[in-house]
Amino acid sequence: LEAKEEFSHKTLAMDVMRPRRNDPSLTVITQDSMTVADIEAAITETTYSGFPVVVSRESQRLVGFVLRRDLIISIESARKKREGVVSTSRIYFTEHMPPQPPTSPPSLKLRSIMDLSPFTITDQTPMEIVVDIFRKLGLRQCLVTHNGRLLGIITKKDVLKHIAQMANQDPDSILFN
Ligand code: ADP
Repeated sequence: LEAKEEFSHKTLAMDVMRPRRNDPSLTVITQDSMTVADIEAAITETTYSGFPVVVSRESQRLVGFVLRRDLIISIESARKKREGVVSTSRIYFTEHMPPQPPTSPPSLKLRSIMDLSPFTITDQTPMEIVVDIFRKLGLRQCLVTHNGRLLGIITKKDVLKHIAQMANQDPDSILFN
């Protein structure tokens, strides 16, 4: 019994979050350095429901979270309605437009579609607590950080899979249920 309890306490957010150790890194969007084409590539090359927005790839400082469907809608409508928005147009999530050469095509401000305070936990948070937070707050996803740097993501489905796995490994449920 004690061993079981120890086991369940030892699963941490870092054990459940994606990407896993040898997986390709998290697909992120930078706050002011990507073009329409860069973000369209992230959308077509992955199927994720959303993307963390960071200050820069080097810093991995989290600034927000943006949903895939909101990006698609906003880019599509900007390409249709807004004169001059093209593949090389810059997309920015900051308050102010990043400095650019005067010959650049018009850029696209998408700050309004970004969740400015996505729920965040550290990689050392016990999964028991993570499960509780997902239940109580009704989260769809949660971002994982270490020393302020973005490390990974846990979705509701990841949590449900983790719960199912725990139930399978629970000797009581195997022996007595
Ligand atoms: P769901 O978990 O409901 O299928 P997603 O399609 O968004 O939701 O995520 C699929 C898997 O990819 C999950 O295991 C999740 O942790 C992971 N994931 C989600 N968003 C990203 C991202 N931006 N970069 C890398 N992995 C991600």
